[in-house]
Amino acid sequence: MTVRTLHVLGSPVLRQKSPPVAAVDDAVRRLVDDLFETMRAAKGVGLAANQIGVARRVAVVDVGAEAPPPLVLINPQIVERSDEEEIAEEGCLSIPEIFGDVTRSARVVVEALDQEGRKVRTEAHGYKARAIQHEIDHLDGILFLDHLSAVKRNLLVAKWKKSRKGKKGYLKEVTPEPAGEL
Ligand SMILES: [Zn+2]
Repeated sequence: MTVRTLHVLGSPVLRQKSPPVAAVDDAVRRLVDDLFETMRAAKGVGLAANQIGVARRVAVVDVGAEAPPPLVLINPQIVERSDEEEIAEEGCLSIPEIFGDVTRSARVVVEALDQEGRKVRTEAHGYKARAIQHEIDHLDGILFLDHLSAVKRNLLVAKWKKSRKGKKGYLKEVTPEPAGEL
């Protein structure tokens, strides 16, 4: 397992719609291992493959002891969502230190393949449901900023650009982050 370099806002791969995985093989299993390793090193609760520069429909979620087990999401699809929505603050490992309130479905049912290629159906609520929606958004090239009002988004993007001043490129080595970023 390898801790991989993160791609941050501005990297084109974050805006790509990732193509599905054709077969769950050893390369995909290694990708899943690297996603978990990188997510945990960065103290995140979810990570999508394009956040480490790989345009494949693969993501992982682990919100910890409050809602086990960790999830492997290969070619995930949300097949049910509640009408009820919740608003909560979100961050993203690809947009460090930027946070915004995002409205999400309170409950989702997701179908995906696991690392053995088995179809798994998972129902999740609250924070875990939020993390799943955030990661599937990544696979479609969507960032949490896109769910905010234009005014709020512009404000946060300006803050982000200011924080990136003097930094080149769109890569970030993983160093400890505040907990709870997706
Ligand atoms: Zn994210």
